[in-house]
Amino acid sequence: AKRGGRERVCLFDAAMDESQRFRQIIETGLRHAIAGDELALHYQPIVERNDLRTVGFEALLRWNSPDHGPISPAVFIPIAEESGLIDDLGEWVLNRALNDCRDWPGLFVSINFSPRQFKRANFVEWLDAHVAQAQVTPGNVQIEITETAIFEDTEWAADVLRELHSKGYRIALDDFGTGYSSLFNIKNFSLNCLKIDKSFIEGLGHDKHSAAIVSSIVHLARALGLNIVAEGVETDEQCQMLRLTGCSHMQGFLFGKPAAAAQAAAAHADSLPG
Ligand code: C2E
Ligand code: CA
Ligand code: CA
Ligand code: CA
Repeated sequence: AKRGGRERVCLFDAAMDESQRFRQIIETGLRHAIAGDELALHYQPIVERNDLRTVGFEALLRWNSPDHGPISPAVFIPIAEESGLIDDLGEWVLNRALNDCRDWPGLFVSINFSPRQFKRANFVEWLDAHVAQAQVTPGNVQIEITETAIFEDTEWAADVLRELHSKGYRIALDDFGTGYSSLFNIKNFSLNCLKIDKSFIEGLGHDKHSAAIVSSIVHLARALGLNIVAEGVETDEQCQMLRLTGCSHMQGFLFGKPAAAAQAAAAHADSLPG
């Protein structure tokens, strides 16, 4: 018992070391991945509630490491963000997404930006330059940002969003409901759409609270003139409930899993009438 405390300290240090080492491995691997041929963008359809027609695709980053196999963006994006690698990674994503989206004219591509990317100086100029070079219309580009990106410096963020909006970009607030914003302060930002986090959709059908939360977000968002995308829709039951609530758009495995660009475009083409 005398040595217990000390051992615990050692174990803790060892765990710290392990996680440091892990980050280091990921970071080194990512540097390689950006330069090499290990990254891919997959696309998941976002559908409209009435006829379940695809209106756009969310771009989701995939990394298949030759040393470690596929690694989830939920793991490597935060490390990229802390190490600053997100700048190069984000540029790769943007260029690839803009290039790919020309294969599905009329639909938008929805691109994730982490807080650090959004907060960089000249974000709008940087984005504009790439969009212009790819000869894509801003109206076909949706910017997905999270609440943390805008609620730390709300005045500045409101200016950036207004500018993006005036240039015709769509703006989506991602993972809505998981952060610290409320619908009350949301009205101060130029947004087109709220994406309701999948943790709430998961509860639909077996949890009264989730249903109540989803329905109040949908109603208030509608009153503010915003579109709503329900994320993580997996079952017909969830889909039916969301339609009844008046949710304007949906995304999830029920309509399509993230897939390579050509596959996503082909699935969309097949679903068109005629
Ligand atoms: P997110 O932006 O919230 O993306 C939605 C996540 O939900 C994706 O996970 C998607 O594959 C998953 N998903 C979609 N439909 C369903 C469903 O019906 N059921 C379930 N269980 N999951 C579903 P993914 O691809 O692993 O991405 C995780 C997160 O990594 C993303 O969450 C986003 O925050 C980040 N991320 C992905 N790609 C990028 C990127 O290019 N740039 C940045 N900055 N972040 C990215
Ligand atoms: Ca997203
Ligand atoms: Ca999300
Ligand atoms: Ca998320």
